[in-house]
Amino acid sequence: MPETYAIVNQKGGVGKTTTALNMAACAALRGKKVLVVDGDAQGNATSGLGVDRSILDQCLYDLLTTQADRSPGAAEFGDVVVPTPVDNLWLVPATINVAGLDMALASAIGRETKLRQALRGAQERYDLILIDTAPSLGLLTINSLAAAQRVLIPIQCEYYALEGLSQLLEVVHLVQAQINPGLEIAGVVLTMYDRRTNLSGEVEAEVRENFSGRVFRTVIPRNVRLAEAPSYGVPAVMYDGNCAGSRAYWRLYQEVFADA
Ligand code: ATP
Ligand code: MG
Repeated sequence: MPETYAIVNQKGGVGKTTTALNMAACAALRGKKVLVVDGDAQGNATSGLGVDRSILDQCLYDLLTTQADRSPGAAEFGDVVVPTPVDNLWLVPATINVAGLDMALASAIGRETKLRQALRGAQERYDLILIDTAPSLGLLTINSLAAAQRVLIPIQCEYYALEGLSQLLEVVHLVQAQINPGLEIAGVVLTMYDRRTNLSGEVEAEVRENFSGRVFRTVIPRNVRLAEAPSYGVPAVMYDGNCAGSRAYWRLYQEVFADA
């Protein structure tokens, strides 16, 4: 059974995709077989892994809307997954169609567990599955929480960092209570930390106080290499393995998986 992580924060631009892709690449470089699921219509995980969205016939949308009905032409897991430039790393891509997924599933039976069901077909093939989610607590994010064993919450070291987190934790608790009792919070990752400002330090102190014992020691610095990497279609740990951002993601990888 692969470990499955959902990377979640309904606040936009906090580092979910950057964290998902770099952690996935660290694991793949260590020889684990890794699957990234792009759970966001923006498709940043898809393009960040160098996959051209315009040439895809099928994506997560097809997997979640047709697989369970077993109709002729239903998407098969193996038809939707694509390889990436990183050895050992595969992707369930997202095209713009994913924007219609919440609507398409709204009246479906078992709508909250479509992703969990779809990933059953993948269980034997991977050691680790990372689900990158959209800045939303909509149905697709619920599906991601229902399919995961652990939740990773990136928090940006900025004003209003804690805004919305109580709502996020409430949703996690509801999913635990009603759909996925095994779901655990792996922890909070502080991202885009800027040593030159007092603000980052203040936010760090506040987050550590609010989530005592649940915040990873490793803090991801603000680092331009992390922001540049997606335009080269590879995660930063491959694009420049030695920059401060990549080294931080290696430390985070070790910290997250040491206690898994
Ligand atoms: P969304 O909610 O839109 O999906 P997200 O939470 O996935 O956003 P990212 O896309 O990972 O956030 O990051 C937002 C932007 O900040 C991107 O342009 C990314 O390249 C950049 N970025 C992420 N982490 C860092 C960092 N540590 N240092 C500098 N830039 C970063
Ligand atoms: Mg993202």
